[in-house]
Amino acid sequence: MHEVIIVGAGISGLRCALELEAAGIDYIVLEKASYVGGRCSSEFFEGYILDRGFQILLDSYEEVFSVISESDLGYRRFLSGALIDTDRGVRHLFDPFKNSGLVKTAFQLLSSDVGSLKDKWRIFKDSKRKTPPVGFAPESPTEDYLRERFSRRFQDEFLRPFWGSVFLDYDLRVPIADFFHLLRLFSVGFGGLPAKGMQAIPNALADKLPSERILLNSSVHALTHNRVELSTGESLEARQVILALPQDVICNFLNFQGPKHPRTAACAYFSADHPPFDLPSLRLNALSSHRLVKTTCVPTTIQPGYAPTGRSLISVNLDPRFDYNTSEMSNVVSELADLFGGQVQDWDLIKFIRVEQALPDYSVDLELENQGYIVCGDYGTTPSINNAFASGRNAADQYLFSLADN
Ligand SMILES: Cc1cc2nc3c(=O)[nH]c(=O)nc-3n(C[C@H](O)[C@H](O)[C@H](O)COP(=O)(O)OP(=O)(O)OC[C@H]3O[C@@H](n4cnc5c(N)ncnc54)[C@H](O)[C@@H]3O)c2cc1C
Repeated sequence: MHEVIIVGAGISGLRCALELEAAGIDYIVLEKASYVGGRCSSEFFEGYILDRGFQILLDSYEEVFSVISESDLGYRRFLSGALIDTDRGVRHLFDPFKNSGLVKTAFQLLSSDVGSLKDKWRIFKDSKRKTPPVGFAPESPTEDYLRERFSRRFQDEFLRPFWGSVFLDYDLRVPIADFFHLLRLFSVGFGGLPAKGMQAIPNALADKLPSERILLNSSVHALTHNRVELSTGESLEARQVILALPQDVICNFLNFQGPKHPRTAACAYFSADHPPFDLPSLRLNALSSHRLVKTTCVPTTIQPGYAPTGRSLISVNLDPRFDYNTSEMSNVVSELADLFGGQVQDWDLIKFIRVEQALPDYSVDLELENQGYIVCGDYGTTPSINNAFASGRNAADQYLFSLADN
């Protein structure tokens, strides 16, 4: 019998384990998959690194970088801002204070017709806020706030494509508190990638734990407060079970109504012999005639190891409703050809990845108090890698405090 069983080796479960390890607690982590990391992980395919849905790691994630160093990850940054394809041509919207070439970048930003000067001033002011402005409840939809405060063009050409891809919610019904939380982190930091893919983050955590503590291919089938049953029929007991599971799985185990509006990610990875654009930046698609391609990014511009030598990896985020079929994929390719020209015909589709429960449903309110479990995960807060780290640490602290109380 172990003192603690952690169910789930995503980053919240691993972060929790790290804290218990430091406190000398006897624990094990049970993970259904054959790898650690859950939603923050990567596939390795013919020399390419394909993150399971395109994601970025912000250097302003203090919880992450208090445990893992940039050099452990071989972390490199994108530019802060975005290229935007509009009906009038490509526009540059980069932060002049954070990127090089202050004068040129400031000129491009201020003279850009994506939004007025008032829009740009307002988003700058908002990035300094810690809480939503008076008159907006934290749970009110971001869409309502943006509609009231910014011009239509700024919403359609920058705010919706950018924040839609961050929240995997292009209708921007996400609570305004999430918007302000991440706006602030984006405004003070850069987005970037580890050299060996997002998988490097959970791997760095797992490397700090004794390997015998993590049991892969161990799917939990049923549980009570101090007992779990594996799908093999084996039963394990512990003083405390800590659930580090995704929202839908928690709902299922604890008989809550599951997510009604889970957020899905749909991402197509292509390879090419040269990048479609050289700037290390996210490229937003705001062409009014397009409905499938949302954002494009070339991870190899900052991390060449994402592809074999001499090749570029292109990651295309698609409308979350997109599911792979040949005719729809040809529509994707034709939208990409509008953006990048005839070179797209030479791109090879490596893989299409769809993640059904990519981010939790913010409208599900799990009342987990008094259930007897300790839980961690990215729901109940703004979902992010940083908050998954924080929740794992908090869950371990909760257990350690309970020991001190007894
Ligand atoms: C496509 C996509 C894009 C994202 N983009 C970003 C981004 O750019 N920046 C950012 O900060 N965040 C991003 N996120 C969010 C971030 O990845 C998650 O918030 C974080 O990984 C959640 O970690 P977790 O440990 O809470 O949950 P999970 O990673 O879901 O971990 C839960 C673990 O439990 C395991 N499990 C499930 N059922 C069982 C069972 N029955 N028995 C045992 N184990 C089980 C799962 O296999 C998994 O390993 C993105 C997520 C996705 C999917």
